[in-house]
Amino acid sequence: MAFLCIDIGGTNTIVGVGNGDFESVAKYSTGEFVENVREMIDEALKPSHIQQEDIEQVAVAAAGPIDREKMVFYPPNVSDKQGLEKINLEKALAGLGEITIINDCTSAVLGEYHYGGHKTDNLVYVTISSGIGAGAIIQGQLIEGKDGNFAEVGHMEISTELECGCGGQGHWEAYASGENLPKMADQLFDLKYDNAVEIFEQYNRGDSQAQKVISQMQEANIQGLSNVATLYDPDKIVLGGAVALNHPETVVEPLEERVEERSVNSTPEVDLCSLGEKSVIHGLRAVCNGKHSN
Ligand SMILES: [Zn+2]
Repeated sequence: MAFLCIDIGGTNTIVGVGNGDFESVAKYSTGEFVENVREMIDEALKPSHIQQEDIEQVAVAAAGPIDREKMVFYPPNVSDKQGLEKINLEKALAGLGEITIINDCTSAVLGEYHYGGHKTDNLVYVTISSGIGAGAIIQGQLIEGKDGNFAEVGHMEISTELECGCGGQGHWEAYASGENLPKMADQLFDLKYDNAVEIFEQYNRGDSQAQKVISQMQEANIQGLSNVATLYDPDKIVLGGAVALNHPETVVEPLEERVEERSVNSTPEVDLCSLGEKSVIHGLRAVCNGKHSN
């Protein structure tokens, strides 16, 4: 039974096709993908033995709020760039078989849980990338919430000063996501950077100004992760997303010890995720292999 998995991220879309395991996995720009969905799927199928008519199951992960009934999702990062407010998946994927849409962090925790080798029934995945979100499996049960939008922990209030992209005040994401780091540096320290990469580069060269920005980011991550540990009491929290994956020594390593100081619960193990940028696509594979209960 052939399957098609599509991970639509803010910047890149990963498409995997296979049967049980993947036969091929390809990466495209999300802008290009959402403009020509069917052609891009054909492109992704080429290196495999699978044709569009062989596909019986489709799983899609969306980096943004989803409306499952209407089969629509609202990609906050994509829509700014493409002028698209929403993507109607029913129309784009018509005739390709049964479709399941899940949040990208929910998919990532499923991928890590089933294929990441973590050996625990209480696992939380947190992404730190252009935004911040989480997925959780507690006592072996996937938590999704009433609309499948459980994962929005980046919009948890951890401080008071900065305004978040969502309009809220003091949200975790406003202090620590890749997209918001330059804004945070500007508003709190009057420091100008073009992007987060520049901040990390200067920090790695020992620049004392960049150090202030990184310390503030680390504080936010410690508070956010401590809240997650207090709320969900997991054995293990794994981190993914470009900011964590590209700077594990700055973003991930300082966390475990400091979370211990703040969390009421016994400290979870904190580590980098096992599957790198493929956690989400492997979660979709888990969905297609019948490991998603909805
Ligand atoms: Zn927010």
